[in-house]
Amino acid sequence: MQPIVYETTDAEATITLGERLACFLKPGAVVAFYGDLGAGKTTMIKGFARGLGVKEVVKSPSFVIITEYQGRLPVYHIDLYRIRSTDELFETGFDSYLGADGVCLIEWAERAEKLLPKTTVRIKLTLIDQRRRIEITGLDRRLTEELK
Ligand code: ADP
Ligand code: MG
Repeated sequence: MQPIVYETTDAEATITLGERLACFLKPGAVVAFYGDLGAGKTTMIKGFARGLGVKEVVKSPSFVIITEYQGRLPVYHIDLYRIRSTDELFETGFDSYLGADGVCLIEWAERAEKLLPKTTVRIKLTLIDQRRRIEITGLDRRLTEELK
């Protein structure tokens, strides 16, 4: 599947994009984020949370791996940065969130790649100069055409 590609020049634009994409998410949706530290994963997740009706401010968790928010659906912000092994991954109870009725937004998703469902939406963020290139796969292109 060809990725859908966006480019943003500031954090607010990345938040707005996330906010608009959130309307496509249904209960049980999994969105996997990839990209280096500072690429904008948490920033985009702030937008998704906002689009899902979360009123609280989403932050980068420092020690907590899974943070739960309530919007129009439950939102599970999962940051696997500190996960070093499959055992550690299972200790977090991570897999039980994947099957839940909420939306999973996962940073450093490559650390759980094998567990991700087939329907996972994948978002890769890359820093190019000061811009962010945002490549999305697994979303229906027809749905997102109007967001361009
Ligand atoms: P990550 O979670 O990938 O480590 P963060 O979202 O925490 O990254 O940090 C990204 C940083 O880059 C933030 O300080 C944000 O304000 C800044 N930034 C600048 N331009 C952009 C952009 N176009 N999209 C996202 N973040 C941006
Ligand atoms: Mg982050």
